[in-house]
Amino acid sequence: MLVIASPSGAGKSSISRSLFGADPNIKLSVSVTTRARRTDEVHGKHYYFIDVETFKKMQRDGELLESAEVHGNFYGTPRAQVEEQLARGEDILFDIDYQGTLQLYEKCRADMVTVFILPPSIKELRARLERRAQDSVGTIEKRLKNARVEMDHYGEYDYVIVNNDLEHSVDRVRTILASARLRRERQVNLASFVKDLQSQIDSL
Ligand code: GDP
Ligand code: ADP
Ligand code: 5GP
Repeated sequence: MLVIASPSGAGKSSISRSLFGADPNIKLSVSVTTRARRTDEVHGKHYYFIDVETFKKMQRDGELLESAEVHGNFYGTPRAQVEEQLARGEDILFDIDYQGTLQLYEKCRADMVTVFILPPSIKELRARLERRAQDSVGTIEKRLKNARVEMDHYGEYDYVIVNNDLEHSVDRVRTILASARLRRERQVNLASFVKDLQSQIDSL
């Protein structure tokens, strides 16, 4: 479970998109959200866009692995898709905020690797939010203000990347993913592989 979090506009969605292009072995956890769809977003790909009533019902019925209110909207991770993907042994990328990260820590710490993305400067963060041109002026101001609180939580993450150059940042996340996959406890069938090597020595 690879979690990427950041203040809005720091670049986590751009980084995730590039990662998917190059790595077929990781899938995105598609969240449900009550916020309005941006013009370039596709239902079922970027988010499942649902109303507040449906969100509350999913929450009540235990269908969300974690959920949080972010920038005045509700967001949550549907439990079923995550459990199915994990059972198939697939890696999953989560683009969730710090509140969601803490909830996942409580349930699945051993399976998680977490990365926090920082913008190189606040001037650049504002420029990126404006360049994305998907949110109203009021929404952009709210997201900039919220960035302060979100940044308080960088210390809860395993890795921190300052997203200056997008390609460098993607490379760094790839390196983190590669080393996480190499961890002994994540390599299945290692014991039988070693046993097999040893038995080949025994029969020399
Ligand atoms: P962005 O910050 O520009 O990527 O804007 P989004 O509207 O896509 O995301 C808003 C916030 O909700 C971000 O902090 C996300 O990390 C967070 N978020 C997105 N999906 C989830 C989720 O499934 N669970 C939780 N807890 N937070 C989420
Ligand atoms: P987030 O998902 O964190 O809100 P996005 O990935 O949507 O952020 O990025 C916000 C804007 O900044 C987008 O317009 C994106 O193209 C741009 N951007 C992201 N990373 C970089 C970077 N390293 N350099 C310049 N622009 C970037
Ligand atoms: P945006 O509205 O720009 O798509 O996302 C705003 C913030 O909500 C981002 O920081 C994003 O990571 C977070 N977010 C999106 N989906 C979820 C989710 O399912 N759970 C949590 N906790 N945060 C989410």
